[in-house]
Amino acid sequence: MPAPLVACLDLEGVLVPEIWINVAAKTGIEELRRTTRDEPDYDRLMRARLAILEREHLTLADIQAVIATIRPLEGAGQFLDWLRARMPVIILSDTFSEFAQPLMAQLGYPCLFCNSLTLDAAGRIRDYALRIADGKRKAVTALKLLNFHVLAAGDSYNDTTMLDEADAGVLFRPPDNVIRDFPQFPVTRTYDELRVALERAAGARAEE
Ligand SMILES: [Mg+2]
Repeated sequence: MPAPLVACLDLEGVLVPEIWINVAAKTGIEELRRTTRDEPDYDRLMRARLAILEREHLTLADIQAVIATIRPLEGAGQFLDWLRARMPVIILSDTFSEFAQPLMAQLGYPCLFCNSLTLDAAGRIRDYALRIADGKRKAVTALKLLNFHVLAAGDSYNDTTMLDEADAGVLFRPPDNVIRDFPQFPVTRTYDELRVALERAAGARAEE
């Protein structure tokens, strides 16, 4: 029996807009526009974000107020429904559970593995905690150990170890710098193209 399929999807840039870019737009703090699409070093990116929040006296509630206005990308819900009808789907995200919940509600509460924030009594964000280092890649490794054939899709630097570890990895709407640095992954720009790429990868597994 061929290994059954499972899909691992990134969240921001694949199903929902970049949360921090929305926070930058709402607060007018341009420095918060920097994301995993620009900065390969996630810890450096998060340290800079935390320092800006501290300087600007922004709390978790301020960020959550912005997130409450964010809607999934056009077509994301239908794409996710299509995929979940075909295989289990796990969203592997570097965002935080404190940020993700309203977005998960809009997507019908898919399975999400992400990180968490450390807060003080006033609701200020003091630190962040990775559940595990390189968690996206390790989740794929673990699924392969469970004899799944893993398909993965993401858009940014923080997805590339996941895409590399998966049996098939696909980029979705990546910035040019990621395409340039990781030419080995096929590039898709619409959900229709992503559906075709995933169907092709699933078909290749059936012929193994
Ligand atoms: Mg992303």
